[in-house]
Amino acid sequence: MPSLSSRTAGFTDSVIRRMTRISNQYGAVNLSQGFPDFEPPKEILNRLAEVTKEDFHQYSITWGAQNFREALARKHEHFSGQKIDPNSEIVVTCGSTEAMMAAMLSVTNPGDKVIVFSPFYENYGADTILSNAEPIYVPLIPPEFKFNPDVLEAAFRQNPKAIILCNPSNPCGKVFTRDELTIIADLAKKYDTFVITDEVYEHILYKPNAHVYMSTLPGMKERTILCNSLSKTYSITGWRLGYVVAAPEIIDTVKKVHDFLTVGAAAPLQEAAVTGLNFPDAYYLDLQQKYTEKRDLFLNGLDTLKISHTVPEGAYYILLDISEFGYEDDLKFCEDLARLVGVGAVPGSSFFKEPENRYIRFHFAKKEKTLNEALNRLNDLRKKMPYHV
Ligand code: GLN
Repeated sequence: MPSLSSRTAGFTDSVIRRMTRISNQYGAVNLSQGFPDFEPPKEILNRLAEVTKEDFHQYSITWGAQNFREALARKHEHFSGQKIDPNSEIVVTCGSTEAMMAAMLSVTNPGDKVIVFSPFYENYGADTILSNAEPIYVPLIPPEFKFNPDVLEAAFRQNPKAIILCNPSNPCGKVFTRDELTIIADLAKKYDTFVITDEVYEHILYKPNAHVYMSTLPGMKERTILCNSLSKTYSITGWRLGYVVAAPEIIDTVKKVHDFLTVGAAAPLQEAAVTGLNFPDAYYLDLQQKYTEKRDLFLNGLDTLKISHTVPEGAYYILLDISEFGYEDDLKFCEDLARLVGVGAVPGSSFFKEPENRYIRFHFAKKEKTLNEALNRLNDLRKKMPYHV
């Protein structure tokens, strides 16, 4: 047998998706892979039912249906204050996963360096490997997950082609402030680097935090490649609707890459999702309110366990410190947790470049009932989990 590509030898399957399979195997409450267990807005579902009887069953325009791109441009302008051209500045993709991959393949040559903050969403590691780029990791230092500007500048001095910025951040829940974004933007301009952003949690924020779009900072529109999706905002992770927003010269190339990667996102789903993109502001306020209630419920429950944890400013993830259990392998901890306690988590090591085994990640995009069930089970954590100290 000939050997398989060396490109793929550098990474394993996704630990996040693996933990969902392990949770299902043990009937655990799955707080590992971040997706809601509540219904998407009924207006979107009603429109989907209608769409099945209309003429949306063939390919849409490869870079996205016209009305979907127009609705995206309107929504983006409403929230960012930045006008974008739906014809030349947006490509619709199959989820932000494809958006990131298309962005990486569009800007990097083999061997190019790309800055990635650590901890990071695991796909970025695989994205750099698949595009034959070389990551330079810059730590976000717990407990506040701030970066050291000197360390960041040292990374920029290595002449990277791009920096990947997840804001609000998965898994640490950090919302980058305008000042922090300005430091990154100034370095990107100084060292002539693209900024590839992942802003899928733009609407999941906790007061008093506010989302600042990197592309709205002075001089950043032309070098920011914004990757986004409808998954989290409208609770439709399975629809795989994502998009890239960038300057026309960049989008020209992203269109080609996207076309050959996937041709296009599902036409009926784009049509149905236009309903969501046209929602009034009340929808987004309500979303924030709901997530704030979930966060508070879950954090209060965790506090009674007396385990230290992060308090997210945005997104819906919490890192818990499990060092008291003395596990050397946090994946083993998560397997034991699913099997013995019945709650699914993601080992923190899958997000960190540094050798780190003291965190696990939970998400709380779940119904109140599900979160209470998880908290009930976690009450027995210290009774049921073995100690290795
Ligand atoms: N972004 C979500 C997470 O971090 C889901 C990832 C995925 O499986 N696509 O859990």
